[in-house]
Amino acid sequence: MLAPSPIPFTGNPLDRASERRGDREWLAERWADPASLAVALWNGQPLVESAGEGVQIAYVQADLARAAAPDEERQALLGMWKDTAVFAVDFDGAVDPAAGPLQGLGRFEDLRTVAGQLPGPDAGVCATAKGLFEWARRTRHCSVCGHAVVAADAGWKRLCPACDAEHFPRTDPVVIMLAAHGEQCLLGRQPRFPKGMWSALAGFVEPGESIEEACARELKEEAGLIATEVRYHATQPWPYPASLMIGLIAEVSGTEATPDQTELEAVRWFTRAEARTLIAGELPGAWAPPPLAIAHHLIKAWAEAEA
Ligand SMILES: [Zn+2]
Repeated sequence: MLAPSPIPFTGNPLDRASERRGDREWLAERWADPASLAVALWNGQPLVESAGEGVQIAYVQADLARAAAPDEERQALLGMWKDTAVFAVDFDGAVDPAAGPLQGLGRFEDLRTVAGQLPGPDAGVCATAKGLFEWARRTRHCSVCGHAVVAADAGWKRLCPACDAEHFPRTDPVVIMLAAHGEQCLLGRQPRFPKGMWSALAGFVEPGESIEEACARELKEEAGLIATEVRYHATQPWPYPASLMIGLIAEVSGTEATPDQTELEAVRWFTRAEARTLIAGELPGAWAPPPLAIAHHLIKAWAEAEA
């Protein structure tokens, strides 16, 4: 068994039961089972309820959820929790389902806002459902022939009835790296960042590129740095809408760095002691991303490592 990760959106505890997704008879039985549950999402926001100091998923009985969202295009099987099937249903539009068919069952909250208050497994389940529905919503037509596609395999596949092409949920790899040289690490500022916030550099992996090569290219493009060694730290599913953040620590050849002025407006070197203070929220005028972001964990891991 994998050790639990402190990184939000990992840790979905469900058995994804991928071998059962195509079994329509079994799925019908699971939907009809009064013990089966569903997570509801409205415009990407999960239905939650208060639990102690925080919140938790407000699970809805599956048949009730299906009655509220009867279109198969808006349903998915997330998996099994022991013997209990866990589905997800998707709502959109301006009308809050918690003021309609799901009245009294919970409230919809922005996932990014409540992720830190949700138990880790719940945040992982919500990230799975959100990622799947974001993909479904953006995959209405066949990318081969343009015909409208239909949902299959309990929401995990979309089929083209015209050319038989099968479409699967996409995951876009993004490298996010802390550049380090000796006892200093480099963080950058994008123009859209809140004032004073510094974060790790990042970019999408391109076709024909290894993760290490993407990391080296981004460091060169955005800050003029030359990577000499790239180490894997951890990854994070990031359902905005379909990224997999690949956290890396990259040794670079020197400290001469220049922001490209398009992606980055500024770069700054931090000593290990400064990075520790930054993560603790105690460095005057400078902020690290919150623990929701893998960048926070990257900076923290490097800051707390022995030299
Ligand atoms: Zn097609």
